[in-house]
Amino acid sequence: SDFLAQLGQIGIELNDEQREAVCHTAGPLVVFAGPGSGKTTVLTCRAAYLMQVERVSAAKMLIVTFTRAAAAEMQNRLAAMPGIGQQNIRAAEIGTFHSVFMRMLMQQNGGQLPALLAESEQRTIIKALLRELGEDGDDEQVADALSKIGLCKNNLILPARIKVTKPENQQFRDLYAGYERVKQQEGRWDYDDILVSAYEMLKQNREVREHYQRRYSCILVDEFQDTNLAQYEVIKMLAGHGNLCIVGDDDQSIYRFRGSRVEFLLDFEATFPGAKKVILAVNYRSTDQVIDSASRLILHNRLRQSKLIRGTGNTGERPQLLRADGEKDEAEQILAQVSELLAADPELDAREIAILYRTNIQVRAMIDGLVQRGLPFTLHDADGDFYGRWQVRDVLTYFKLAYQPDDLDGIVQILNRPKRYLYMDRLVDQMHSLRRQQNITYLEALAQIESLEPYQRTKVEQLIQDLISLRLLSPARALHKIRKEIGYDRYLEEFAAKTGNDPKLIGEPLDELEQAVIGHASLHDFLQHVEEVKEKVRQSRSKGEGIQLMTMHKSKGLEFLHVYCIGLVADMLPHPKALQAEGDKLSAAVEEERRLFYVGMTRAKRYLTLSAPLRYHGHRAEPSPFLFETGLLPRSKRVAIASATGQPAATSNAPKAVSAPASERMKSALAKYGSVAFAAGDTLHHKDLGPGTIRELKELTGSSGRRAVIDFPGQEK
Ligand code: ATP
Ligand code: MG
Repeated sequence: SDFLAQLGQIGIELNDEQREAVCHTAGPLVVFAGPGSGKTTVLTCRAAYLMQVERVSAAKMLIVTFTRAAAAEMQNRLAAMPGIGQQNIRAAEIGTFHSVFMRMLMQQNGGQLPALLAESEQRTIIKALLRELGEDGDDEQVADALSKIGLCKNNLILPARIKVTKPENQQFRDLYAGYERVKQQEGRWDYDDILVSAYEMLKQNREVREHYQRRYSCILVDEFQDTNLAQYEVIKMLAGHGNLCIVGDDDQSIYRFRGSRVEFLLDFEATFPGAKKVILAVNYRSTDQVIDSASRLILHNRLRQSKLIRGTGNTGERPQLLRADGEKDEAEQILAQVSELLAADPELDAREIAILYRTNIQVRAMIDGLVQRGLPFTLHDADGDFYGRWQVRDVLTYFKLAYQPDDLDGIVQILNRPKRYLYMDRLVDQMHSLRRQQNITYLEALAQIESLEPYQRTKVEQLIQDLISLRLLSPARALHKIRKEIGYDRYLEEFAAKTGNDPKLIGEPLDELEQAVIGHASLHDFLQHVEEVKEKVRQSRSKGEGIQLMTMHKSKGLEFLHVYCIGLVADMLPHPKALQAEGDKLSAAVEEERRLFYVGMTRAKRYLTLSAPLRYHGHRAEPSPFLFETGLLPRSKRVAIASATGQPAATSNAPKAVSAPASERMKSALAKYGSVAFAAGDTLHHKDLGPGTIRELKELTGSSGRRAVIDFPGQEK
């Protein structure tokens, strides 16, 4: 038709299957296909087709995307289609489940809805309730409870429906019920109440339901594999007419831990009899090499629908493997490469470069590097603020108190971390007056309160001494002292035991902080650096420009010319939390982690770099087992280890004629190749020394030493 020809003119030449889906005008339709195959493209084209060719009014279209960013992108793409004006874009309902449901609720409630609780307000409510239940109500416990409540709501489970088989369940039910009560008393909602309320509104009110069925006569949903029960039930009610088009990929379902259910996608044909199913097999996004490595990876999942995915014959480079020495070195090598790319090609938009990671904590070194180099970036995750983690905040408060000991809030924050058995609420008034009378600091005043037990007084005096001595230390030494001597690590261990958390995960932010403080001479200097980083991160959010930093979760649906997946070490991917699952749940959890990595890899259009530093948090780190599965890291060969510390290597058995320290040779070799998995026997090319062969790889005890001994035959006399 004319419309399809016009699409071709703007560069969208649909293949047969895509065309079949786009031109399917009525009745249920599912497009089931792998990454980059044009699912989102088909959805957009179909919406345009319905408006342009089938003359469906834009106001009758409901298009649901997974994120707000995706909705904006969808609007842009639609606006670029033949015959679709801004008017249509405005008339159509394009948004996330939340925004769409919110609008319906608003309309039915005369434009008024309970104000949504901010996350901090939610935390305050839970904290108070936990305290009432005799719990500590610390940050971790609060976060845990909130995520459980969210999971319940996504599954439409109200407190009354929670079965009490174990005492924990009883406690959770009370907590959940209490939370709902407080919200109701205050006339507020949380984010997930939008889902539950939309469900209830449509379920209980036939007129309203029929109104919206007429209003939205064409419904299109992207990323259907990550729909949860509440969303699904609402969509099913709205789509009573059967004009529902969904697209999805079971291999990209990555929110099962939050209640998403891939079955809704897989069972679509059974639920909607007569549904048409279209399978797309061509990946237009990526080079054959990217597709090949990603396909090898996902083949390791047992529970999946097998599907053929082929490229368009677009060949590129083999994905690079980068094996830096540690997180800092990883960031430096990648940012050096990125700077070079940007300098070499003024046309290259930095937004075409993405850095992806498993968890937020892993981006810390990268942000430090970006700030240092003054490169523009956008950090996409709200939790990306490493210095805002509670463990880190506690330590930074110790640092600050070393300088300004007279800070009451700071004292309150750390006084019982570790436990000093001092109950401030009862002491604050006395502290105020003693401080005023004697012109001393709060802490000194605390030590003088008469009612203190001798052991309590000793604790306060010790703290005063500790803070004085911290002031003289480098940040690295100060951190060590806080963890090991002052007893903060012990506090974290007790905390982990009490809350049933993995002690390693609880301590992790401080392991990362240990890396962050390296190279900073004084506490003051470091605290300034922290402020600078925080400011830059804040600024970055508003603009959306520059290099894109996000978790693999957030990257779903997006695409970039250059993708760097960082921190691919065994202790991070699969994530240790996934490995805590047992039995069948364990393999399901590992498969979800594999899908997550698959999503990350398949974001790359042309250049993909997979980075697994040799050390993580100062310890030797194995590469993620998933890396082997991509076929890019040979299983049989031992992974080569290069020192990039710049320290001279032991030279006794190095090739005689080579004078440069082995470490430097390796560094330039690494820089030149970007990334190779080295093993003894591998050959490489040095820019000054010519071709060389790795003779052996050595592990030196004690020092930072891992060395490669390389023979450069051309240099031997
Ligand atoms: P994901 O599963 O990652 O969300 P997807 O299936 O939604 O991927 P799209 O984002 O729609 O895939 O398409 C991937 C890329 O391929 C886009 O850049 C899109 O413009 C391009 N593309 C899709 N179909 C065609 C086509 N027929 N001809 C040319 N390019 C196409
Ligand atoms: Mg898509």
